Amino acid sequence: MKLPPAGVWVGRGLAALGLVAVVRAVLAANVWALVAALGGFLAATGLALAPLVRSWLAHQPVAVPSDFEHMLQLLRRAHGARAGWAVGLAAGDLDVAAAELDHAARERGAALVQLASADGRAHVAREPAGTYVAVGDFPFGAGLLLPPGNADGQLAAAAADDLRRLVASMRVAQRHEPGEQPGQLVSKQLAALAGGALTLEGIAKAGVELAHQVAQRGAAIVLTAAGAMPGGRVVALSGGADGRLDKVTVPPDAPVMRAIHSGVPVAAQGADDIFGAAIPDRRRAERAGTAYPLRDGHFVIGALVVTGPPIPPATPAADVLQRLVADLGSRLAAARAVHEAEQRAVRDPLTGLANRREFDDRSALAAGNPPAIVTLVFVDIDHFKRLNDTLGHQAGDSALRHVADILRRAVRDNDLVARIGGEEFAIWMPHTPIEVGLEVAGRIRATVESTAWRWSGEAHPLTLSCGVATYPDTVRNVANLRGAADAALYAAKQGGRNRVERAHEGTRHAG
Ligand code: GH3
Ligand code: MG
Ligand code: MG
Repeated sequence: MKLPPAGVWVGRGLAALGLVAVVRAVLAANVWALVAALGGFLAATGLALAPLVRSWLAHQPVAVPSDFEHMLQLLRRAHGARAGWAVGLAAGDLDVAAAELDHAARERGAALVQLASADGRAHVAREPAGTYVAVGDFPFGAGLLLPPGNADGQLAAAAADDLRRLVASMRVAQRHEPGEQPGQLVSKQLAALAGGALTLEGIAKAGVELAHQVAQRGAAIVLTAAGAMPGGRVVALSGGADGRLDKVTVPPDAPVMRAIHSGVPVAAQGADDIFGAAIPDRRRAERAGTAYPLRDGHFVIGALVVTGPPIPPATPAADVLQRLVADLGSRLAAARAVHEAEQRAVRDPLTGLANRREFDDRSALAAGNPPAIVTLVFVDIDHFKRLNDTLGHQAGDSALRHVADILRRAVRDNDLVARIGGEEFAIWMPHTPIEVGLEVAGRIRATVESTAWRWSGEAHPLTLSCGVATYPDTVRNVANLRGAADAALYAAKQGGRNRVERAHEGTRHAG
């Protein structure tokens, strides 16, 4: 297909395209479709077009999917993008990419666009291959891969604007085509999602957004908790669902857990809350819902919850929902297996904290590109050998878990708590000045001292020591942070234990 030279009229994208550009487009080869689709876009977005052009457009055929490929190519060139994607068209998904772009990057882009088409949000992901920009409006989505090394958010925003216009024109064009069944669309969307290397979170999110679209009600996915925990966990919430449910633990007696254990759908009505007492005091109207078990073969791994009164059976919405439920279970199970394997690589199995490797990776990453401020706290349990020797190794493990829980609760979401050695921990706190780091360490020290740790029914005293260092306050080079925190910890031990020491510029570990 022959393209007009880039920059002639595509310019800063379709954003500024006015009558002149439309007329020029008419003169260019093979751009009927663009014009027709633009007419659609203008109608869809309510923009005025000169009456002359409008009446002319009325007699033109509406864009067909092959024309969208052309439009996508134009957008790609206008933004200097490496690739472009469009999904949701009845005739199939589009993928236009530079020849040198590798398979993984193409799949990644297609998956992001699928996700955007399901959740209707703009996704911008800066990755080594470049910056992916994807927008969507169910079931349509479009995306571009902008070249790497381009951190300018305005370029991504401009690309997103143009992509939104493209998606709007796809929606209009589709109206003129023999309709595709929504059920087919759901399967297609989910199949495409599975094709991309998506995370558990991404698939779950796409699942609830599809359910939301189909049922026109809020949706959630609950998965059984890992290990021997009896309850479940809300892993994804659609728009329209109660935001307080995000990531909450669902108690074992909740109706949704009954659906998971029995393998049959369970509806909650009246005073009953489908999520049990996960969130107390919800309004009556918020409590109703139906939980559909999600299966992986014989195993029920969780449930899709559609809020509100039950969907009447044998309606199109119920059929589509059934298809979605059938499809989601095995996809989620596969994604969860990958997720758990990834977690094993970065987690300490005893405490659930990050492991040493994860800590090393994160702090090494920072050495290359240091945050403006970062505080590091080294923590070491006092006389732990004695505890192990007198009470046994199992007691020692229990004390480690007890301390790990206190550390976890003491920090914010963006902080990293790792177990870096037997009874040694590290807390990595980006954007945290030394005073705040000292405060956190002091609170941890006091909490461990005052919280009873029980073994065989008896409370045993437990204390720990902390060393605190901050870049750039106490070290000028972020690479020296560990040495400084270690020296401060050593000083805390020397000073009698059960205390917090602050690192000083130039201090070195003596022993
Ligand atoms: P200090 O106050 O100077 O830190 O004394 P300490 O006894 O805690 O120090 P040291 O580092 O000499 O001893 C650490 C002990 O921790 C050695 C070992 O018995 C115990 N330990 C190390 N890893 C584990 C583990 O994974 N589980 C258990 N139960 N104990 C461990
Ligand atoms: Mg030690
Ligand atoms: Mg110790």
